[in-house]
Amino acid sequence: MTASVHTATSTIGRWRSSVDLHAHSCASDGELDPAALLRHAAESGVRVLALTDHDTVDGLVAARQAAQETGVALVAGVELSVTWERKTLHIVGLGIDPDTPALNEGLALLQQRRRIRATAIAARVERLGVADAGAAAATMAAGGQITRSHFARLLVEAGLCKDAKRAFHRFLSPGKPAYVAGDWATLEQALGWIRAAGGLPVLAHPRRYTLSATARRRLLGQFRDGGGRGLEVCCGSSDAADIEASAREANDYGLAGSVASDFHGRFQPWIRLGGVAPLPDGVAPIAAQLGVPI
Ligand code: AMP
Ligand code: MN
Ligand code: MN
Ligand code: MN
Repeated sequence: MTASVHTATSTIGRWRSSVDLHAHSCASDGELDPAALLRHAAESGVRVLALTDHDTVDGLVAARQAAQETGVALVAGVELSVTWERKTLHIVGLGIDPDTPALNEGLALLQQRRRIRATAIAARVERLGVADAGAAAATMAAGGQITRSHFARLLVEAGLCKDAKRAFHRFLSPGKPAYVAGDWATLEQALGWIRAAGGLPVLAHPRRYTLSATARRRLLGQFRDGGGRGLEVCCGSSDAADIEASAREANDYGLAGSVASDFHGRFQPWIRLGGVAPLPDGVAPIAAQLGVPI
């Protein structure tokens, strides 16, 4: 897998940001190992990169080493899974100390719940006709967190659908046959763990949640009052209307803005590392609070 493949298959705008505060490695559902991710950042012109794997900080040691070798400034991060009013939200923590006990206790809890959910999803995927889905997902994850993305890949490999997007749409989304709801951290817990670790909590991909206008206001108010500091105003999948709406929300709630591709590698080929629009004027960049060169 090379950088050129991502570039060639991207269908979104040609934005190139030198700061990217949301990316995955194979410690969760990214394609690249942490060192390869840092090399890919350097090749892509990304000078500041946050590694934000789902519910784990296991990639950060290797990422830190590779950051020194490549000259990319690494922001230690994590993307925590949260259940809020029966919906799943993602809260990114930026600039965390990964050795913080409270954070690690929280991660252990989330990882245990991931294992339980993976077993339940595997049983459903096996019923759809994929033999030994649990073992296959564990092998694919290779010690990293098992996510729905791994099951999506298994469904594609088994020929049940053409690509991961279709696997989510047909099998792995709420109401579909292989969906199992997560039982994740509360918003208060996630904010507390990130803050205990000295990090800045950022609401990930804020336009991806289906919320009524009042629920949205309730969420943003609770997030800000609980110590939330930023919104991903510019994501890898944002259009101009998304950016405008999130910029307004950031300013209304006194939150900084983050630029965040949510890069996963060839599993989500429409997203490029650093393929994010610049923050609109008037939005305070969260990177300015992280002590990194921007
Ligand atoms: P999980 O945290 O195990 O529920 O997995 C969530 C991950 O699945 C997200 O972080 C995405 O990487 C991936 N995902 C969710 N929806 C889709 C989709 N429609 N197409 C491709 N990947 C998706
Ligand atoms: Mn993911
Ligand atoms: Mn996410
Ligand atoms: Mn993510």
